[in-house]
Parts: sequence; C-alpha cells; structure tokens
Amino acid sequence: MNILDIIAAKRDGQILTPEQIAILVHDAVNGRARDYQIAAWLMAAYIRGLNPAETTALTKEMARSGRELDLSSLPKPWIDKHSTGGVGDKTSIVVLPMLAAAGLTVVKMSGRGLGITGGTIDKLSSVPGFRFDLSPDQLIEQARDIGIALTGQTPDLAPADKVFYALRDSTATVDSIPLIVSSILSKKIAGGSNVIAIDVKCGSGAFMKTLPEARQLADALIETAEACGLKLGVEITDMSQPLGRAVGNALEIEEAISVLKGTEAGRFRELCIGLCALAIQECGRATSHNEALLASGDLLDSGKALLKAKEWFSSQGADPAVFDNPFEVLPRAPVIHCEIYAGPDAWVRSWDAATVGHASVELGAGRIRKEDTIDPSVGILSFIHVGSKIVNGDRLFEVHAKSQESALPVTRQLLNAIELSESPVEEVPLFLS
Ligand code: URA
Repeated sequence: MNILDIIAAKRDGQILTPEQIAILVHDAVNGRARDYQIAAWLMAAYIRGLNPAETTALTKEMARSGRELDLSSLPKPWIDKHSTGGVGDKTSIVVLPMLAAAGLTVVKMSGRGLGITGGTIDKLSSVPGFRFDLSPDQLIEQARDIGIALTGQTPDLAPADKVFYALRDSTATVDSIPLIVSSILSKKIAGGSNVIAIDVKCGSGAFMKTLPEARQLADALIETAEACGLKLGVEITDMSQPLGRAVGNALEIEEAISVLKGTEAGRFRELCIGLCALAIQECGRATSHNEALLASGDLLDSGKALLKAKEWFSSQGADPAVFDNPFEVLPRAPVIHCEIYAGPDAWVRSWDAATVGHASVELGAGRIRKEDTIDPSVGILSFIHVGSKIVNGDRLFEVHAKSQESALPVTRQLLNAIELSESPVEEVPLFLS
C-alpha cells in the first residue's frame, strides 16, 4: 500500500482503513509524499468526505505525528477552551483566568491570527513583556504553581496539521468539516487536555455562515472527541456582528481587562460567563447549567478571576500596570476618527462582522499572509450592535489608525457595514444552539 493507492481509494469514494490513514500522515510529515500528492488526497477527501471512523483515525494519527504534552503530573481536569474564530473574539483572555480561578488546570497553546480572525497570541503580544516562549517543562511548572500557563504553538506539536493546513489553504479545501475537526482536535490532544469547551462561531465573520453548518461542525466535533476519549462541550454563538466593542489587538486587551475588573457589561461578558459555565459543567464541577452560570459570574464579580489574571500576566513577564492604566502601557494609534450619526431616530438592523473584520485587517490589525506583521495599536471601537437605537449625534464607531489616509477608506467601508431600520429591530441572540 503506497500513497498513490490511498489517493486513488479516496478518489473512488472508498472508506480508508486506520492503517491507510497512518501511512498518509507519516508520509506527509516525513516528506515521503510530495505536496501535490497530499493536495490531491485533500481534494479527494474534500469531495468524497470522511466518515466518523476515518475522521477519528485521522485525528489520532495527526495528534501522534509530533510531540505530545504530558500533563499527568498536574491535577485533573486539564481544561482547554477553543473558538473556531471570529471578529473581536478576545474571550480566552478572560475565560482562561476564570477557569484557573475555579481550580481547573489550564495549559494552552494558542496561535496567531490569519485573515479576519484574530489570534490570542497577537492580542497578548500588545502587552509589553508578555512571553510566549515557555518550554514544555516551564509550561508545566507554571501551571503547577498558579494553575494557568499559555504558550505559542511549537512546530513539533501535531506537525501533520501544519503540512495539511498550508496545502488546504492553497487548494480551496479548508472548509471541509472532517478536515476542520481533525485539525482542531489533533492539536488539542497533542496539547494534553482531557476536557475542552469549544465555541463554534456562526455568521458572516466566521467559518460557518449558517446555523445548520455550525450544527454539523458541532456534532462532528462532539462525535470525534468522544471517540478519541475527550470530554467536549460546545456552544454555537453569534458572529454576524463583531463581539463586544473592540476589534484590534491592544483595544481588545483593554476591553478584556474591563470585563475582568467588572466594569463592563454586555454580550462579551455574557459570552465569557457562558463558556466558563460550559467548561465547569463538563468538568463535573456543577450539577446544573444555572449553578455553573452563577459560579462563573461570581468568578468575575468577586475579583477572583482578575487576581488570577494578574498572577498569570506577571508570571509570563507582562507589565502588571496594564491592569491599572491599560492605555498608559498599551500602544496607542496616533489617529482616532470618531464617526457620529446624523439623521432621524433609527435602529441598527445589521453591523456586518465580515466587513468590520476586513476593515481592521486593512488598518493593519490582522494579517493577509502568514508572514505579514501587524500593528498592535490600530483597530475599531464600536458603540452599536444589532437592535441598538441611535439618535442624531450618537457615536457609531471609532477608527484607530496610523494615519488620516488609512482611516478614511476604512471609515467608508464601516459605514457600508451598517444597515438601519426606521422601526425597532430585535437583538440577535448570543447563544444559538
Ligand atoms: N481552526 C483550525 O485549527 N483548523 C481548521 O481547519 C479550521 C479552524
């Protein structure tokens, strides 16, 4: 059995055995298979699909393709939290210290952002001093001391995913549910966690544009996780509009700190509480969702999560003054343009997440190609959401830019992202599942 037989088998719609999938993954990682052969297999898998057994075999093989973190010296449960990615999604920065403050062990490897989807590492990089180069031993030692540690993705973690993802990205095979599931879960398994809370985003600013697609991904994640021996809880949440008020790295850190300090209400805080509750329940630390929600809200209101976040930031070298005076520590854009509404009373019908995401990338807050550098100071603050009533003179949004020239076209794009109604509009529910 060689790679050519495996490509042909999938091309012809056959179901692959675990042995065939093991050969495919080994050959992809050690270079025995050429890129064009792996690309051909990916296209065959995209068109023919993979059944649950194949998806499970692929996930396990990809997880085993490199180093696997051994958390067995740390107290269980080993919890991880994942989002399929969206615009203004800074949830990890609040939820991870909430989970550690609840007594769970949090060891997380995070990635950088690509396209309109931001990455936790990019956001935290805007805090001076924050280190992401912890070795596996340092990661485990810090998690033993304070219950939480985060690092960037090491090249030896699930290397098969790196080979597959790069080829998927350039062969229009990214949005295949079994390929997405194996990509996400193989990295989680290699990262050592045994319980995972996943936020599947749904809407224009997400991979999954519609609720049926998001449900399909959620179901496939649950089924594959179970077959791999992981406990996994999923929420499907709205990404038709940006999450919270900030999009852009330093701006999002400031918003996350406000939620940790308890000075900010709204949909972003609500999401943090809902995801923390999901994780607490999956870990068996609450008997009902209501009890988990109350416990999660208390982690923010009591200041326990804030205390844990300060400990976490300090342990990883970040300047602790960021919690007291965020904007004295975080980079600030030189130009701030505030757009004011002029017109009759109206309601916001849509505030399109994808357009806001593309606008923030254009300002320099995100990358179009992996090698692009980002500007941590730029981004967008919004003062509206779907259902908001606006009157003449209200602020709509602020553009934080490096120059007037870059702020102007982005302002025009953002105005196009807003649709107004003369009559009241209902808010979009945050939790969709
Ligand atoms: N996130 C991942 O890690 N992999 C995918 O394929 C899609 C989203």
